[in-house]
Amino acid sequence: MSWSTLLNDVTYRDRPNNNAPNTTSPSNTITTADARSQISRARSYASTAATSVSISGDISSQLHGGYSHPLARAWQAERQLTKAMLMWPLFVTDNPDEEEIIPSLPGQKRVGLNKLVALLQPHIARGLKSVILFGVPLAPGCKDALGTAADDPQGPVISAIRLLRRAYPRLFIAADVCLCEYTSHGHCGILHEDGSLNNALSVDRISDVAMAYAEAGAHCVAPSDMNDGRIRAIKLKLIEAGIAHRVNLMSYAAKFSGCLYGPFRDAAGSAPSFGDRRCYQLPPGGRGLARRAITRDIAEGADIILVKPATQFLDIISDAKEIARDMPIAAYHVSGEYAMIHAAAKAGVFDLKTMAFEATEGILRAGANIVISYFTPNFLEWLET
Ligand SMILES: [Zn+2]
Repeated sequence: MSWSTLLNDVTYRDRPNNNAPNTTSPSNTITTADARSQISRARSYASTAATSVSISGDISSQLHGGYSHPLARAWQAERQLTKAMLMWPLFVTDNPDEEEIIPSLPGQKRVGLNKLVALLQPHIARGLKSVILFGVPLAPGCKDALGTAADDPQGPVISAIRLLRRAYPRLFIAADVCLCEYTSHGHCGILHEDGSLNNALSVDRISDVAMAYAEAGAHCVAPSDMNDGRIRAIKLKLIEAGIAHRVNLMSYAAKFSGCLYGPFRDAAGSAPSFGDRRCYQLPPGGRGLARRAITRDIAEGADIILVKPATQFLDIISDAKEIARDMPIAAYHVSGEYAMIHAAAKAGVFDLKTMAFEATEGILRAGANIVISYFTPNFLEWLET
């Protein structure tokens, strides 16, 4: 119904005695034009009566028609989840034959190099586009104060990058860059004697590790350590080595401290042996600090801005989209978020698939267009239908 017809209808309905003959016709004679007009009014009156309950003067109240069809509902989202948006975190150990279920991360495994290609194969066949690698050194005595094993050329991450580049040439391979999996103290850098982070030495070391991963063939290096100035240091080294044009630098710009990383630390064996990470990861209430860190990392040469965790920090994702509006925004739906959804679904609180979609669509709505998610294998299946 057009706006003008509707106005006529409402005017007609509100007229007193609108069933009376048309007294404006000369001599009360019913002409053919009058008859047509009365039929049309009768139709209008019927349609108006049907809709008058919900029309309260403003036509903008009528929304349902816009999303009655499933496809029309999908169109309401600015971004719809696609396989290309998903990045799957993988834990690669230095024990080549390991294939170990991670109890706190349902369905996820820690694997050695000999199991990696086979683990990925069915997911690649379903459309897996990218992974992010985390090294898990298990060999006794391999951890030290400098995290020497992080860029061991025979270590799990560098070996996995080389292996996956050969096995799956079209797979986008990101490598998380940090020292906490490799340091004896479990912190994300090199420490002063008093246990605090030595930022300068840490940045130097972490940028070397990033270079080793980039030179091994990683498409993306992603420093998660939160030392000040590491994005600039890595970018400068990439430029100096002549490989900045082919390596994406994804900054964990807004990584918050909190209790959602427990299952990850189980999986990666990276819990700090003393203290916590609150002096370098952001405080959960620190929205302004996150905005400053995002602004800083853009200026230092980041190619992607990452927010972590995701569902408790949708405002930060939205801020990142506003501040870094010309860049891709990634969100890490972390281990604790994933484990919570599994636990609640198991307890009958909700359906696992429905909640996985709701959580991830919320992350996209906030502004992310890349989601690092343990649900990636599930989504590859769910998105088929
Ligand atoms: Zn770390």
